Amino acid sequence: MAGAPWRPPAPALYPRLTETQSRRTADGENTMNESCLVLFSGGQDSTVCLAWALDRYARVETVGFAYGQRHAVELTQRGVVRDALAARFPAWRDRLGEDHLLDLPTLAAISDTALTRESAIEMTAAGLPSTFVPGRNLLFFTYAAALAYRRGIRVLVGGMCETDYSGYPDCRNDTIQTLARALSLGMAVDLTIETPLMYRDKAATWAMTQDLGGTALVDLVVAETHSCYLGDRATRWAWGAGCGSCPACELRAKGWERWQSTKS
Ligand code: ZN
Repeated sequence: MAGAPWRPPAPALYPRLTETQSRRTADGENTMNESCLVLFSGGQDSTVCLAWALDRYARVETVGFAYGQRHAVELTQRGVVRDALAARFPAWRDRLGEDHLLDLPTLAAISDTALTRESAIEMTAAGLPSTFVPGRNLLFFTYAAALAYRRGIRVLVGGMCETDYSGYPDCRNDTIQTLARALSLGMAVDLTIETPLMYRDKAATWAMTQDLGGTALVDLVVAETHSCYLGDRATRWAWGAGCGSCPACELRAKGWERWQSTKS
């Protein structure tokens, strides 16, 4: 990847919100009588979010999107991870509800990115990684909200993070929480979007994995979740499968190493 990493524009251009809608996590509110819908890709972050949700909500459904990804491996691993969670964590098995897979081929048709086409992963003239799919998270949450509305669910959960990430502007808390407001207004419901990883770096995400499900969950995340942009599941590392050199593998590997170093 060439050039400097993308950074959000100056605060004057994007005024920060003074409050977020995601108040329940911080307050430790009891959510054990509620349902939620987790945006679940089969990757590391969304799997940890799924475990986080299974630990807190009475019923947890998952939604994934087929949007012309270069690699079907992501979609395959979704089922593998869900089955593994249900098999290895009996308390969570009863809370794990339906899985929904939504087809969004239009997103691939209007995108020209390294995630949906066979092009190089690099920095673009716009100063963003070529893996950035414009509007992806906005569309995902909008579809998820429509699905949640129909299912009577008022909490959406996503693995977006602005601490240790690839610089996608739609992963920022302001973006997500502003969208939550728009969706609440547009659907006339009190919709909450929870992003438990928002201010955690990748090392903290591994530590959170350990806290949620111990070594069994860490092992499951290592073995079954998929993050690599190149779809490599043949090359194995201590932190999981992947090419080892794409931006997603680099983030995952560095986080693992930092977590390992803090443990010893
Ligand atoms: Zn990779």
